[in-house]
Amino acid sequence: MTIDYNELKKGGFLRQRQKDNFIVRFRSLAGNLTSEQLRQLADLADKYGKGYVHVTTRQGAEIPWVGINDYNDMKGEIKALGLNTGTCGPRIRTVVACPGREICQFGLMNSRETAIELDGTFFGREVPMKTKIAVSGCPNSCAKPQENDIGLVGAVEPILCAEKCAGCGLCQKVCPHQAISMVDGKPTIDRAKCLLEGNCISSCPTDAWQEGRRGYLLYAGGKIGRKPRLGQVVAEFVPENQVTESVEKVLKAFDVLSQQGERIADTIARVGVKAFRDEVAWTGIESKLYDGPVNSRTGSSTGDLGKEVG
Ligand code: SF4
Ligand code: SF4
Repeated sequence: MTIDYNELKKGGFLRQRQKDNFIVRFRSLAGNLTSEQLRQLADLADKYGKGYVHVTTRQGAEIPWVGINDYNDMKGEIKALGLNTGTCGPRIRTVVACPGREICQFGLMNSRETAIELDGTFFGREVPMKTKIAVSGCPNSCAKPQENDIGLVGAVEPILCAEKCAGCGLCQKVCPHQAISMVDGKPTIDRAKCLLEGNCISSCPTDAWQEGRRGYLLYAGGKIGRKPRLGQVVAEFVPENQVTESVEKVLKAFDVLSQQGERIADTIARVGVKAFRDEVAWTGIESKLYDGPVNSRTGSSTGDLGKEVG
C-alpha cells in the first residue's frame, strides 16, 4: 500500500514510532465532547487500538496503535460517525477554550462561543507555520492564551462614579491584587496592578464601580516548545462580534511579515511588537489599540482604566 504521509497528517493520522502503526487524532469543539462521542471513541479504541485513548494537552483525544492495514476501514467508520479528526503541519489547529461565562462563576466573556466561531472560520487553514489559538473567559487564563500564537482573554474595565461611592472600602478588600486603595475616603486605582477582573464592579454595594469596556485582550506571539515565549497584547477590549475579523487581520500581518520557518512569536521577536501591530490593518475594529503604558502583570496598556465619570 502506497502511503501519502502528508495527506494522512492533514486528516489527523500521525506516524507512530513503531513501523506500520498510526496515532489517530480527534478534536473536540472548544473543549467539549458529547457522551455519545466519548462512547464512539471508546469503541474505536477497542476495535482499532489497544483499548485506551490518550487525552491531549489541546483538548483532543488520540487513539494510538492503529495498524496501517486498518486505515481505510477506520477512516470510513470515522466519517460515518461524523467524528472530527485533528490536523498537523503548517495549519491552524483546533481552537481551545475554557468553559467561560456560560458556566464559570468568574467568566466575563463567553469563551466557548467565541472559540467555536473562530474554529469554524480558521481550523485547518494553511499558514506559514503551525498556529495555535486559545480563548479564556477572564484574566485567570485557564486555557493559557498567552502560550498560544494568538490568545484571547476576557476582560472588563472598571470605571468609578465617585458621587455614588459611600466610602465603605469593600472594593479595596475584594481586590486580590491590591490595585485599589482608599484615599480621603474614596477609592483610587493603581492601573499597573489591575488585572481587569471586575471584582470591584461586582462587589460594590452602591454601583459606584461601573463597567466600562468589556471584551477580549488580544495577544499575539506566544508559544511553548524549545524556545517558549509569552504572547503580547496587540489590541484591547475587542468586542465579541469583531474577534474573527481581528484574528484575520493578525494572520494577514503574519503572512506579510513572516520569514520561512517563523511562528508569530519569532516574527514579533525579529521585527518588534510595535512594527507587528502597525502592520495589522485595524481599520473597522472598535478596540482601543495597545498604545499606552504597560501594565506589568497583563502586558496590556492601561488607557482610561479607572477614570472617573460624572
Ligand atoms: S479563564 Fe476565567 S472564565 Fe475561564 S474557566 Fe478560568 S476562571 Fe473561568
Ligand atoms: S465598594 Fe463601592 S461604595 Fe465601597 S468604597 Fe468601593 S466604590 Fe465606594
